[in-house]
Amino acid sequence: RAQDEARERALPARTRDGHDIAIGANVNNPEQVAFALDQGAEGVGLMRTEFLFLERGDTPSEDDQYETYSGMLKALDGRPLIVRTLDIGGDKQVAHLHLPHEENPFLGVRGARLLLRRPDLMEPQLRALYRAAKDHIDPAAPSGQHAPLSIMMPMITSVPEVQRLRSIAEAIRTEIGAPYVPLGIMIEVPAAAIQADALARYCDFFSIGTNDLTQYALAIDRQNTELAPEADSLHPAVLRLIHMTCEGAARHKRFVGVCGGIAGDPYGACLLAGLGVHELSMTPRDVPGVKARLRGADIRELRALASQACEQEDAAAVRALDPAAGTGGA
Ligand code: PEP
Ligand code: MG
Repeated sequence: RAQDEARERALPARTRDGHDIAIGANVNNPEQVAFALDQGAEGVGLMRTEFLFLERGDTPSEDDQYETYSGMLKALDGRPLIVRTLDIGGDKQVAHLHLPHEENPFLGVRGARLLLRRPDLMEPQLRALYRAAKDHIDPAAPSGQHAPLSIMMPMITSVPEVQRLRSIAEAIRTEIGAPYVPLGIMIEVPAAAIQADALARYCDFFSIGTNDLTQYALAIDRQNTELAPEADSLHPAVLRLIHMTCEGAARHKRFVGVCGGIAGDPYGACLLAGLGVHELSMTPRDVPGVKARLRGADIRELRALASQACEQEDAAAVRALDPAAGTGGA
């Protein structure tokens, strides 16, 4: 029985009509990789590098970071790894960086805005990543969605940010002599979702951070427990932003992942697949349930369901469309 379950978890998330959704895990260190793979993850869709900074009392050096990224690549043995550059600010404050106090840190110097202001933080991180790529990646390895390493930038709001980040990253890569590493951006701000078609010209892929996208679209602080029931990522306004992101990406043939919490919800995963998302990345323990649900679905039905969901008036109505609602989930 345990063997049957393990075999089931290892099957791809292929719908009944043969459409594959890539399944990644959100994993922050090499020690967690084995568990994620055992749960059926095909790679790591989000490594949050803030944790390298949050877990210790000082800033990790370039060499420390190189060791961690190399450890991740070795543990994944050619499977995809998407590393997100430092996303400090908002809910992730790091005391030892001594950043200025802000009245509204979620609307302040966070993510890409901080990276562009602090080359002393961004450059060692990029050097560590490209050194790991040079030492551990076969230049003939697959590219695109299946590349063994991809780098993604958090909290993007504009095209010039992406252009600047890309030119800094490419200069460092060339200097190090690393193979090409796909460069993606997080879509977590409504402005980025609305301008997805323009942003797609300057990056290789998108990953939608639905936790922040929901917070910024609905103007609900993601840490506010009183408003938590209303901060539903299945709100039709959020679904429409996801739809716009997928359309913008498709215009330039870019792939789209989702690495926010809703990717790990079986019904949420169905809607995301129906909206045109190619990859879902989630907490390792959510992988088996999402895979099982997608394997029982039909992509044509999910597309119809997703467009119906976008037409609903509120999140409750979207949830009521779930064929498994009221049956305790599936
Ligand atoms: C998100 O915002 O959905 C996301 C995945 O990033 P984080 O939760 O780390 O902000
Ligand atoms: Mg985020």
